This record gives sequence, structure tokens and C-alpha cells, in this order.
Amino acid sequence: MNKRQTHVEILESVRSKIMTTPVGELVVWGNRQATVTLEKALVWAGAEPANFYGLTEMVKFLNKAIPIIDNVVQQMALAGADGQGLIDFINNLSDLTASAVGGAACYIDADDTRSDADVREVEMHEAGIHLVHIRIGRGNLELLSAAWMRADLDFHQIARSEVGRVYVKNLKRLAAEAIAYVLSGAHAKMGFKGPGALNRAQRFAGRYMGEVADLYGINAVKQFRDITPKMMEPIERVIYGNKTQR
Ligand SMILES: [Zn+2]
Repeated sequence: MNKRQTHVEILESVRSKIMTTPVGELVVWGNRQATVTLEKALVWAGAEPANFYGLTEMVKFLNKAIPIIDNVVQQMALAGADGQGLIDFINNLSDLTASAVGGAACYIDADDTRSDADVREVEMHEAGIHLVHIRIGRGNLELLSAAWMRADLDFHQIARSEVGRVYVKNLKRLAAEAIAYVLSGAHAKMGFKGPGALNRAQRFAGRYMGEVADLYGINAVKQFRDITPKMMEPIERVIYGNKTQR
């Protein structure tokens, strides 16, 4: 099989659909071929190359990627290839950006090879946490300061963890990623492992939300609703004011 055939086959097998999260956010789910196509289109639109299972992206940037995918559809039509899956993908992404609230929207890799639990974890990470970040931060997902992150009790563990070390050069981003992993139930990836791991992750979530409440108000904290049930308690403590538990 030559490289060109492989490329066309990937494009012909793109599948996607619009889904609604449990709290009513619209997101686009795609198969692996859709994810690869979106990764490439975003690079052509000027983004840094990245591989992802999920993405929360600014609408203005997604709207640059859509015509790039449309251009590929035109070329496929000329070559006699089946572009319907890509056309559906463009329509789904366009519907998503047209209805987006707060200037950002989420794409989720829901390939058949991924478990329902993995897909749901990524969906919470993106639509339940980062999308809320961007709305509170008016386009910026980094709500807390580098100084806050550095001073946190669990900073060293988070900074040395499997995922944390990827973000350690940008501590504001590290704080945003740490809470996204913790609230979606993936706290082990941020180094919360061993005895008492869940409890320690809950206390981290409580400290993060306490700071969000101080900086942005309780209504900002209330927006984090689509998260793993295990992490509801520390958020509710902040909302309902048991301040001694911070
Ligand atoms: Zn993230």
C-alpha cells in the first residue's frame, strides 16, 4: 500500500457526531481518523503540532480549520474519493462553533478502540473543566497563578508526576491541568497514588476551588458540574461554606 492510498483511506473513514454531555453541553465526538484529520487541519491553521484525545479550542481557531478540511473535500471529489464522512465532520464542527457559548468548543476522540470510561474521562476533562475554565477566564484556561501552584502542599508530587512533568515549565497551565485530571477522576496521573490518594486529591480540589471562589466568586465554582461524582464533595464544601475544611 503506498502512502497516498493510506492517506485517502483515512479521510474516507472519518466518522463524527454531535453529542450532548450530561449537563447539556454540545460536543463533537469523532473516530481516530477524525482526530488525526483535525490535528493536521489545526497545524495548517497555524497551531503547534499536537496529538490529543480531546481538545478545547477557541471557536475563531476552529473556524480557521474548517475551510482547510473543506479544501481537502474538494480535492477528494476531484480524485473520485468518498468525502461524505469529511463533509459530515465539517457540518458537525460548524454547528458546534455556531452554538458555542463563551468562545470555545470541545472535540472528543470516541474511537471504538477506546473504552466508554476513557471517553467519558476525556469529555469531563475538556467540556466539564477546561470549557468552564475558558468561560470564567474569558478565553484563558489558566485561572490561578504560578505562585499559587508553587505554594500548594502537593506541588512537588504533581510536578514530578507522569502528566505533571509535561507542564512543569508553565505553572499556571500545570494548575489548570492538575485540576482537570483530578476532577475527571484521573488523579493518579497527577501523582495521587497509594494510601489516601483519593482523599488527598479531594483536598487538592478543595484548595483549588477555594482560590477560584476568592478570585472569581462562588458562582464560578458552581459552574464545575460535569465532573466525577467522587469530586463533588470538596466543591460543595466550598460552595456551601464549610471554610474550616479548606
Ligand atoms: Zn487538559
